[in-house]
Order: sequence, then C-alpha cells, then structure tokens
Amino acid sequence: MSKAGERETLNVALAVPCTEAEGPGPRYALWVQGCALRCPGCCNPEFLPFQQRDRRFVDDVVAEMLQAQAQHHIEGISLLGGEPTRQARALRQVAAAARAAGLSVMVFSGYTLAELQAEGDDDVLALLACTDLLVDGRYEEGERTTRRRYIGSDNQVLHFLSDRYQADDARFAEGNTLELRVLIDKGTGALTINGWPVHGARTR
Ligand code: SF4
Repeated sequence: MSKAGERETLNVALAVPCTEAEGPGPRYALWVQGCALRCPGCCNPEFLPFQQRDRRFVDDVVAEMLQAQAQHHIEGISLLGGEPTRQARALRQVAAAARAAGLSVMVFSGYTLAELQAEGDDDVLALLACTDLLVDGRYEEGERTTRRRYIGSDNQVLHFLSDRYQADDARFAEGNTLELRVLIDKGTGALTINGWPVHGARTR
C-alpha cells in the first residue's frame, strides 16, 4: 500500500466508460500501460512499453467508474493491459471499490493463475481476492481464436474466482464481439477497437 498521505496512482493506457465487448454485461474497462511478456501478435503493442501514458490518481479512476455506474448502469469493471497485475497495488484499490459498489470485477492477465499465486505478491493476491472472473495466460498466435468469447487464444482459461457468475451463463457461450468506437474529443479523431484479437489495432 502507499505511504500514509500519499495518493496511489495508475498509469492508464485507455479507459472506456461503457463497453459490452470486454466481459459480461455493460462494463467500465480500463487498460493499463506496460507488459513485459511481449507475446508475438499481441493486439495491444502500443500498451506494452513501460512508459508514462495517462498517470491518474486511483480515487479519480474510482470516481469515473462510479460515474459510469450512475450513467450507464454498468454491471462491472474489466481490467486489461498491458498487464494489470503489474499495477496491482493501485488496481486492488479500484477492484475493492468496485466490489463495495456492487460491481463485478473481471481481470485479463498474461500470467496464468498458477503463476500469479506462486508469485505470492500481497497486492496481486488482494487483487485476485476481489476478482470474479479471470482470463489468464499468454496470447499464443498459433492458437488464435475468435470463437470463444473474451478469449484471444485457445490456451487461455476463463476462471470463475467467485460465485457471482456461473459457467452455464449463456453470455459465455456466445461468439466474440467487436466494438468500434470513434472518439472525437479534443478535435482529434481516434478509432478504438474492443473485444477482438487484431494485431496493433486497439487505437488508431
Ligand atoms: S497479449 Fe497480453 S500478456 Fe501478451 S504481450 Fe500483449 S498485453 Fe502482454
């Protein structure tokens, strides 16, 4: 945890207030910057370098999440990357705030659940304790799939870490979803793609 009086921060790559492509139901999705795993064919190459992007206070991110809940009636939040578990000290606070607000928490990690548990890091374990759904494992280009919802390659596993969701929920059996979103704020058009393993095309 941060020292007394310090406000924890997150290095944010992208935040989407409401998406239906990154987990069950409408969700607030947050991509963090930086991943050391560098899977060939990763669909988020611009999110991999450990460089400063949008450095934000955790309480500001939580406020934005609660605003999304009020405005869009989101069911939960999804934490993606980059690699969320490398910013677990901050994300465990976001996840705990989500749970306290009645929201579900879904995490996408390139590390397997077994690797994360073996690591034994208190912040990662606390993040997992607040996680309902975990998609784990590297993206393996040779096992790429677009048929399993929320899954990029067949080696990856969707873990149910709480009883909030059940595997027979029809939403998990649907095909993958593609969302295109055009952002026109600040006068600079940008295209973002959610929910589909497309190399290098998350933002344009
Ligand atoms: S696919 Fe995921 S784990 Fe692999 S390099 Fe990209 S962000 Fe990292």
